[in-house]
Amino acid sequence: MRNYMKFYIDGQWVDPAEPKSTDVINPATEAVSGRISLGSIADIERAVAAARKAFGSWSRSTVAHRLDVLQALAGEYERRQSELADAITEEMGAPRALANGVHAKLGSAHLAIAIEVLKNFKFEELRGTRMIRHEPIGVCGLITPWNWPLNQIAAKVFPAIATGCTCVLKPSQLAPYSAQILTEIIDKAMVPAGVFNMVQGSGAQLGTALSTHLDVDMISFTGSEPVGVQISRDAAQTVKRVCLELGGKSGSIVLDDADLTKNVTSATIGMMANSGQTCSVGSRLLVPAHRIEEAIAAARAAANAVEVGDPNGNASMGPVVSKAQYDSVQGYIQKGLEEGALLIAGGPGRPDGLSKGWFAKPTVFVTTNDTVISREEIFGPVLCIIPYDDVDQAIALANDSTFGLAGYVSGINLEVCRDIGRQLRAGKIGINGAADLSAPFGGYKRSGNGREFGEFGFREYLEVKSMIGYGADR
Ligand code: NAD
Repeated sequence: MRNYMKFYIDGQWVDPAEPKSTDVINPATEAVSGRISLGSIADIERAVAAARKAFGSWSRSTVAHRLDVLQALAGEYERRQSELADAITEEMGAPRALANGVHAKLGSAHLAIAIEVLKNFKFEELRGTRMIRHEPIGVCGLITPWNWPLNQIAAKVFPAIATGCTCVLKPSQLAPYSAQILTEIIDKAMVPAGVFNMVQGSGAQLGTALSTHLDVDMISFTGSEPVGVQISRDAAQTVKRVCLELGGKSGSIVLDDADLTKNVTSATIGMMANSGQTCSVGSRLLVPAHRIEEAIAAARAAANAVEVGDPNGNASMGPVVSKAQYDSVQGYIQKGLEEGALLIAGGPGRPDGLSKGWFAKPTVFVTTNDTVISREEIFGPVLCIIPYDDVDQAIALANDSTFGLAGYVSGINLEVCRDIGRQLRAGKIGINGAADLSAPFGGYKRSGNGREFGEFGFREYLEVKSMIGYGADR
């Protein structure tokens, strides 16, 4: 049983201002796996005050100093990477191999990228007589979700620290363990007091306290669209910068010249990874209509081959994160059936042999782009296959979404893929399965307005100052 009752404020592990706590449930067993404290407004006040106090010196620290700190962090992170993975398996049910090989590794990858970007980032550029300075924006409120918990925290905390900002992290209540261990890692590294602060608790209470706080300069939020809208409203009163990384319903186009079986198989496996709880996954798979039978055979075989079960065993798919998420996913599967979508794999309920834990079946529907299941973000292991007649229609279907987080295209002719990529209204386009953590990541439309990762991730935390006459002759 884990017991994480303290918060991290001003370089110290401190008791919450008011004693209040909650159980954390293991989604694979439905049993209590530990307990965390729930913070109050007073804890946020203390954390913001510490971050404000630290900002003065941290914002003026040298790049060399910040590199030393990030490098110390990287050493400590590596030492505890497997503990982070264990925590992720326990809190949100990711299978061990995924938690170890991807979840925990993504954190260290963001750290390594932050170090490389910091080495070369131009915080000052002299343009003629003008000096353009990129200065840390100030105290940042970082609010994160549970689905890739460490990845989301890493994509915010490391660039914030690297750019000279100070921050208050409010992780998801559903995935508090990895955040707690990361905080222990930060505590062990040479991060000065107040630069990083962490308070656990309710989003509605603590998140709102950060979004409305007079002394918070920026909010970086990853989560759902309705909460992103609420934060934007809350933050507007104090005119703070708000960077939103929201949901998606991304279209993945398999072209006629592509190896259909191979691409449909990998798209189906990709959909089921992390139990479908990935914002940028290609959850609408667009295939040529005249090859729909081939696509159905491949998707059905791939979905049926996914082994669902104990994330501590050999399963490739664990549970979804909570009962609420399970109920929501089941509601969408039911909706798909009511809408007349063709169910080709999975369906309602738990997989055979699993009577406990929030396990859903890897589910695939063939449907059209106007159904609820193909328009709303399900955030579970449910793939929608949508047939198209020609490439123009495929592009139109991919773009016919309120979201615009990602788009994917697979085909033999790279120039054709590139041309389609240019026409897709989404922030990240993957061509033939490519992935790149240094490329900017963020959405068009209702998928948000931020750009995280790499150099673009730094820019979110920086203000632009022009010093006119800087280079003028005396
Ligand atoms: P959520 O919006 O319910 O919660 C996210 C965070 O916001 C949590 O820490 C929560 O406590 C907090 N919160 C809740 N209400 C708040 C309020 N009123 N003010 C401030 N903070 C508040 O999202 P979730 O269920 O944790 O995560 C799933 C969602 O995240 C999905 O929609 C998914 O697509 C999205 N997501 C997006 C990206 C991306 O990079 N675009 C990445 C991962 C997840």
